[in-house]
Amino acid sequence: MKTLNRHFVNGHLVEAHGTGTYPVTSAITGEQLAEAVLGDATDADRAVHAAKQALPEWSATTLDERRDYLQKLADSFKAHRDDMIPALVEEFGTPLSTATFIVDESSQWFLDAQDLLTDDTFVRHVGRATVRRVPVGVAALITPWNGASWAIAMKASVALAAGCTVVVKPSERGIWQAQPVLDAIADAGLPPGVVNVVFGKGDPVGDTLITHPDVAKISLTGSTNTGKLVAAKAAGTLKRITLELGGKSPTIILDDADAARAVPFALQAGLFNNGQACVAGTRILVPESREDELKKALAEAVDALKVGDPREDGTVIGPVLDRDHYDHIQSYIRAGIEEGGELLAGGLGHPHGLEHGNYVKPTLLATTNDRTVAREEIFGPVLSVITYRDEDEAIRIANDTPYGLTGYVATGDAERGERVARRIQSGRVMINEIVGSRDAPFGGFKESGLGREFGSWGIDAFLENQAIFV
Ligand code: NAD
Repeated sequence: MKTLNRHFVNGHLVEAHGTGTYPVTSAITGEQLAEAVLGDATDADRAVHAAKQALPEWSATTLDERRDYLQKLADSFKAHRDDMIPALVEEFGTPLSTATFIVDESSQWFLDAQDLLTDDTFVRHVGRATVRRVPVGVAALITPWNGASWAIAMKASVALAAGCTVVVKPSERGIWQAQPVLDAIADAGLPPGVVNVVFGKGDPVGDTLITHPDVAKISLTGSTNTGKLVAAKAAGTLKRITLELGGKSPTIILDDADAARAVPFALQAGLFNNGQACVAGTRILVPESREDELKKALAEAVDALKVGDPREDGTVIGPVLDRDHYDHIQSYIRAGIEEGGELLAGGLGHPHGLEHGNYVKPTLLATTNDRTVAREEIFGPVLSVITYRDEDEAIRIANDTPYGLTGYVATGDAERGERVARRIQSGRVMINEIVGSRDAPFGGFKESGLGREFGSWGIDAFLENQAIFV
């Protein structure tokens, strides 16, 4: 059995001080691929110490020097692209085309961050004040398993551009995919201590980071429950926090929508990454006047999706992360049926012929917005279909959730779509089309998060404002 025991601290690939282990499994076969050795509080503390030591010199680098280092990171991520893509596919089952998209965007974050290195980002003038925008300090970047390279690059690019040094804690459920990311970071040749990576669980590695007196900033992407825990603990030292959390996003199909466009749009929004996506549009709202037609069209489209080996061309739905996640998704399908939902497509168990590996049937349940399947984030290919009477009710249902990450509107009238979008309480709303913008703000209303990432909002989250009056 292969052992994964590489962490990156102070410019060196090092073995963990910790001795705990974690089984790394394949989503495709369900078999164990390796055993990972996890870091502990000592590893986290060593990484923070290295980042603290590196901070004065890194924060004093010129914008040109930072631009050069961001270029090195982009180049190094590109050089490891061909290892990153299959690792994502193997570990959490995302189709090859999605993995390719995720990995190609990862290197792009470093190039985007170069464009933020302007004088205006760091100095502004307001009345008699000169506002210096200074790096907040050592930043802990805590990331989820559904696309390690992407989340790490997205956060690290702007943290480093701001002049912060970082400690990255990838998810313990994403260590396989993070191996080539570790190589990319190690090969980029940044000064020692500027980027450190420690693998480990929320407790103790995450916990050490969020309570550490030398960490000034936490940027977490993860579930809402984790976000609440992290916010509570980080309050002890009043750390700056950015939280990108879960979602239960609505897709409103308006009564004027063309079904031929609305149905693929709704399924793309709901099933990207096998539904293992925070932004998934998992509640599809259909008008009563077209209920039968749209339910039928949605069910036929779900039945027609190619479920299978994510490495094969044309696969739309691959397996999900691991056995625990498979069981978790099954429990929601079961609850959906037991609570009186009408099964329109899919259901319990493995799809026929895909009994090995963590394959789930893409499932469509007609239900109401008060039921478990419509309220809780499932993070798999399970979609609720909810009927509404009129536009006002559609908006009421869309907003009747603790979450507020994304919204989707399908309509034949873009102006109407925009009017509806403005009434949806979520950080982003897409009308008729999925747009993958990296420069508009990204983040959640309500329990989907705190703060914003991407573009200038991303770098702002790693800067403090100091007003000087001469
Ligand atoms: P998770 O909350 O279980 O873990 C996320 C990270 O937090 C991991 O690195 C984990 O080890 C760490 N963690 C867990 N407990 C911790 C603690 N007490 N202290 C410090 N760190 C701790 O989430 P996950 O299962 O890895 O990812 C899926 C979740 O992430 C979903 O809810 C999804 O919606 C969300 N997500 C959100 C976005 C977004 O941008 N809003 C993007 C991707 C995923």
